[in-house]
Amino acid sequence: MAVRQVAVLGATGSIGTSTLDVIARHPERFRASVLVANQSTEALATLCERFRPDLAIVADASMEGDLVRRLAAAGVRCEVASGADAVTAAAAGPLCDTVVAAIVGAAGLDSTLAAARTGKRLLLANKESIVMAGELLLAALREGGGDLIPVDSEHNAIFQCLPPGRPVAGRGGVRRLVLTASGGPFRGRGRADLGTVTPAQACAHPKWSMGRKISVDSATLMNKGLEVIEAHHLFQAPPETIDVVVHPQSLVHSLVDYVDGSMLAQLGHPDMRTAIACALAWPERIEAGVPPLDLAAHGRLDFEAPDTDTFRCLALAFDALRAGGDATAILNAANEVAVEAFLAGTLPFLGIAELVERVLEELPAKPVVDVQTLAARDAEARRAARDVLRRAYC
Ligand code: NAD
Ligand code: MG
Repeated sequence: MAVRQVAVLGATGSIGTSTLDVIARHPERFRASVLVANQSTEALATLCERFRPDLAIVADASMEGDLVRRLAAAGVRCEVASGADAVTAAAAGPLCDTVVAAIVGAAGLDSTLAAARTGKRLLLANKESIVMAGELLLAALREGGGDLIPVDSEHNAIFQCLPPGRPVAGRGGVRRLVLTASGGPFRGRGRADLGTVTPAQACAHPKWSMGRKISVDSATLMNKGLEVIEAHHLFQAPPETIDVVVHPQSLVHSLVDYVDGSMLAQLGHPDMRTAIACALAWPERIEAGVPPLDLAAHGRLDFEAPDTDTFRCLALAFDALRAGGDATAILNAANEVAVEAFLAGTLPFLGIAELVERVLEELPAKPVVDVQTLAARDAEARRAARDVLRRAYC
C-alpha cells in the first residue's frame, strides 16, 4: 500500500491538529508531506520537528525568515515557502496526493480549488470555500476527477449514511437530509438575553472544541446556515430537502431520511478525529483515537426545532441559498467581517445577523461567472460590511 502524502493546510489549527493526531497513529498509511500555517511559526516549527514534512509554508510572507531560523535551530531540513500563492501551488503540486483543506475562511478558497482541479483527494473542512464558490468547486472536481470527502462532521455523517456511489437527495430513495445542530452556548436564550454576551462566552462551546471563528458561527447558528449551503452543493440537495434539528448532546451527527420511512444516522463522540479518519482512509476504516460511544452512559438524546427568530443567521443563510447566484458568497463575506468585529469587541452579538442582513439587502445576487468576479464581489461585500459597521456601530 502506497503511503498517502498529505498536505495539511491550516496545520496549527483545531482541525489541523486533529488531522496530525490521526496521521501520527498510522505512519504506514499516511505522511504529512506539506504543513501550512498563517503566522504561528513557533507552532509550525514544532510540528515540523515532529512530522518532518518536505515543505513548510507560512502564509504571512513577513514571517518566513522567522520560520527559517526556528527550523534551523531545531535541526529540521525541509523546504520553506511563504505567501498565499505558495499555499495554492503546494495544494496543486507534486508533494501531496491528499489535501486537508482546514484553513479558516475565504482565505482557503484558492488552495481548495487548486487541490480539486488537480485531482487530489480533497478532505474539505473549509466550508467557507464551498459556500462562496459551490458551483466552481464542483466544476473543478469534475475537471480534476478526484474525490471530495467531507470532514465537517454533519456532512461526513450524511456521506456515511447515503447509499454508495455518490447518491444525491431525490434519487436513490433519499427524501431529506437532516443536519443536527448543538444549538451552541446560547441555546434556549431569547434576544433580550443576548445583547451583552461576550466573545469569551460565545467561544465557550458546550460540546466541541474549535477555532474562534467557527465557535462564534456556532453561537449565532450561522455555522448551521453555512452547513445547509454546504450540504446543498455536496449532495445536490434542493433547499427544501434540507432540514435542521437541534440536538444538544452532539452525539447524532446528522441523518438521512429515506422515502420508505427509514432514517439513518451516524453517531459518535463530538471529536473531529472520527470524521477525519473516515475521510483519510475511505472506504476503509481506521482507528482514530476516539473511544467507543457508551449510549447507556449518556442515557438520552434530545431533539428540538431551531429558534430562527432569535438566531436569525440560519434563516438568512436559507434566504441566500434560495436567492442563488453569488448571494451565499456575499453572506459569507459579510459574516466574516461581522465575526471579526464581534471578536474585536466593536460589534454586539446580535449585530452579526443585522450586519449580514443589511449587506445582503444592499448587494442583490448576481450570477457567478468565475473566481475573479467572485473575488471582486467578496471584496465589495467586505467593503459594504465595513461601511455598515462604521455607520451603525462605531
Ligand atoms: P482554527 O482557527 O483553529 O485554525 C485555522 C488554521 O488556518 C490555522 O492553522 C491558521 O494558521 C490557518 N490559517 C488562517 N488563515 C490562513 C491563511 N490566510 N493562509 C493559510 N493558513 C491560514 O480553525 P479550525 O477550527 O481548525 O477551522 C478550520 C476550518 O475548518 C474552518 O473553515 C471551519 O469552519 C472548519 N471546521 C472546523 C471544525 C472544528 O471542529 N474546528 C469542524 C468543522 C469544520
Ligand atoms: Mg459541522
